[in-house]
Amino acid sequence: MHEMSVAQNIIDIVIQHLPEDHPGGVKTVNLKIGKMSGIVPDSLEFSFRVIAADTPGLGNANLHMQFVPLIIRCNECKAESTLDEPFFVCPECGSVNVDTLSGTELQITDIELEDPPQEES
Ligand SMILES: [Zn+2]
Repeated sequence: MHEMSVAQNIIDIVIQHLPEDHPGGVKTVNLKIGKMSGIVPDSLEFSFRVIAADTPGLGNANLHMQFVPLIIRCNECKAESTLDEPFFVCPECGSVNVDTLSGTELQITDIELEDPPQEES
């Protein structure tokens, strides 16, 4: 299952970015997923939960996914188009001479930590 190794990579990166002292643990991992990244969101979320549950500091972590549309720019007519399907053809002029601007990324954008427990003063 491809998503299992992707989820493991995400968690490895999160752990690397945790501050040394993080008593509250991780609350939310924000992720950008391009429509053309090949990731199945439900599978990724499931895998993330399975691995996070066994990872210290990530037991309560949620995965928040933001989906990035596939956007291409045509090199012939310079039109920028958002595509619903992965047909890399300019809808304006029919050219296949297009560049992909976004839609293939898989990127952690933000890691939110839980508030540390309030101490009685
Ligand atoms: Zn075009």
